[in-house]
Amino acid sequence: EHPFIQYGAKTGKSYKEMKEAEKFLPGGVTANIKHFAPYPIVMNKGNGAWLEDVDGNQYVDYLMAYGSLALGHGHDDIKKAIQDQLFEDGTFLFGTPHSLETTFARKIKSYYPSMDKIRYTNSGTEATLLAIRLASAYTGKKKIAKFEGHYHGGYNEVLYSINPPLSEAGDEDKPNAVPESAGMDFYLDQKPLVLPFNQPDATEKLIEEHATELAAIIIEPVQGGFIPAEQQFMDRLRNVTKKHGIVLIFDEVKTGFRSALGGGQEIYNIKPDITTLGKVIGGGFPIGLVGGKEEILSISKPKAAGDVFDVGQGAESSAKEILFHSGTYNGHPTILAAGLATIQRLEQDFDATLAYTNTLREKIEDLGKKANVPLSTVGLGTIFSVICTRDSNIRHYRDLQKTNLELRKEMDFHLLNEGIYTKPLNRYSISTSHGEKELEATLNAYQTVLNKRLG
Ligand code: PLP
Repeated sequence: EHPFIQYGAKTGKSYKEMKEAEKFLPGGVTANIKHFAPYPIVMNKGNGAWLEDVDGNQYVDYLMAYGSLALGHGHDDIKKAIQDQLFEDGTFLFGTPHSLETTFARKIKSYYPSMDKIRYTNSGTEATLLAIRLASAYTGKKKIAKFEGHYHGGYNEVLYSINPPLSEAGDEDKPNAVPESAGMDFYLDQKPLVLPFNQPDATEKLIEEHATELAAIIIEPVQGGFIPAEQQFMDRLRNVTKKHGIVLIFDEVKTGFRSALGGGQEIYNIKPDITTLGKVIGGGFPIGLVGGKEEILSISKPKAAGDVFDVGQGAESSAKEILFHSGTYNGHPTILAAGLATIQRLEQDFDATLAYTNTLREKIEDLGKKANVPLSTVGLGTIFSVICTRDSNIRHYRDLQKTNLELRKEMDFHLLNEGIYTKPLNRYSISTSHGEKELEATLNAYQTVLNKRLG
């Protein structure tokens, strides 16, 4: 039986809603990533680790809004923090400085000591964009390098070689920069240098060749949040960037408060020059953050006391001396309150979430072994992915392409039927709300799906 058949019977209302949505939204979605064929499931309730769809089906949620919801859905701590902030402050938005901006920065810095100074943005995309502009201003250079398979947001400089077809991706040691979108022709001169993750010799060689042009190298210290860098690779990357004065940006939008509370940089004991955060630190609301070295971040410091910036008002000094960074909603008080409550709860519950993650991974692998289905997991901290292969040594994008992605997708649809939600082929993100009941439900579902394959 094809997995779509049962899923279709259970999700008739989702199908109807998506048909209606397609009349207004291209593909029926507001972000391409929300789509999957034949049609995505429309959810309308969340509670703890659970989602409910418009047909009333219940799912243990492992998508967790792409890892953003570290406490699960609708956590009481966050509800209370938001309410307190709104009641005490009496407003939704100040447009002025307010004390939570400092309180939150102090909390972040206690886990990310590489951040001398911090700026807030409204998304991870904006954060990496600001990080790259800072690096360019600091070095006076304009080329960046990124790694194959790594995602940093949806704009031109970084929208290359995230999921390149292997037929276009070029040499493993010297990957091509493959655009990920139509409409990028204007910007082809901004192509980044694409580097091979976890391949220290090849990466070093490419960096040496381009060292004089490179302002920055941006990397997910754990690719996709689930393929860890190797320590030696990270050490050599830090050394070679330092040697050439290239700004090293750790994009920890996924790994922040997930690989460890202190992100990938805590695991690898490495100080990047700039770090970007997002997702978890907004407690489910839009946020991004850029933190880093004093001498880099201070380029965005308004110049003289009394210097006023306002749109259309003229400027006394050359705009090029100060890095432009603004945003109506930067440091939104309600979101910072939600983020602070999230981090405070994680301080109590992170270890238990880690334990859940590791138990789940072990048990899934055990079930795979017993059923003789090639199931493995790869991950770090509270994120992992299920991979269909007997070789668990997955080190980068190309290794992942060699695994049985079709089998993984088929299992994902069967699991949807059994009430386990992640977007097909997506990684698993665990929350503090996942507990005994969810573990049991998940393993029962896996057992049923594996039995089906055997039957
Ligand atoms: N960087 C990384 C590592 C991400 O995973 C993401 C989002 O998935 C982004 C940047 C972009 O963040 P946002 O979707 O908040 O713009």
